[in-house]
Amino acid sequence: MEVLTRGGRALDSVVEAIVVLEDDPRLNAGTGSRMRIDGRIQMDAALMNWDREAGSVAAIEEVKNPIRVAYDVLKTPHILLVGPDAIAFARSKGHARYDPSTPDSRRHLEESLEKIRNGRLPRYARKWKGVALHDTVGAVARDRRGHFATGSSTGGLAFMLPGRVGDSPIVGAGLYAGPRGAVSVTGIGEEIIKQVLSKFVYDRIADGLSPQAAADRGLALFPQDVPIGILALTSRGWGESCNRDMAFFASSARRTF
Ligand code: ASP
Repeated sequence: MEVLTRGGRALDSVVEAIVVLEDDPRLNAGTGSRMRIDGRIQMDAALMNWDREAGSVAAIEEVKNPIRVAYDVLKTPHILLVGPDAIAFARSKGHARYDPSTPDSRRHLEESLEKIRNGRLPRYARKWKGVALHDTVGAVARDRRGHFATGSSTGGLAFMLPGRVGDSPIVGAGLYAGPRGAVSVTGIGEEIIKQVLSKFVYDRIADGLSPQAAADRGLALFPQDVPIGILALTSRGWGESCNRDMAFFASSARRTF
């Protein structure tokens, strides 16, 4: 809101909002991200602007704010950088080495490994599609010029092979923005990718649906046992739809504009 109220760009406000969330160790993005089953933290983050410029990183390690690296990717001719080359790119842009693990992320890993050892896995984890916590973060914004931007950042799911990438850094799946609005989603990445969920919701907005109706249509694509959360923003307001308890913050931005 500080960025927006001083006339800044929606894109910059999304980056700064996600940095705050990445730095909060309670959330599964940046510091405190979930560990892969080998104990490594690999993170995904993405940004998309109203003019459809986008930047993302996947399976990036040892950086403090993946969303800032995604912003640096947005300024290149590319959209997505992955793995060790994404880390090398981050270092070349001045992102220092940083360990995002916390006592809680280590405890979560121990719990997951114990469940694997016991074989007492929930159905979703047996399919490697499970998630114990949905603390991925996302932000959508509209600035004074009426331009939209969206972003997302995650440490992934509870049970993950190294190298696995979900929906969060994939344009059209985890996020989408254009001249008509901005969408950011959370949930089981494999299911979200199959439905190209964010583009689906954006297209409903472009068809003329309200952001709430568009988000509800997106949620209706999924069975109840697939956790999903959707944020949608248009010039008419915002919509939020989810089939689990999730934290949303709706600002009073409309007053400002
Ligand atoms: N969508 C993220 C992923 O599959 C996880 C989440 O939203 O909690 O990596």
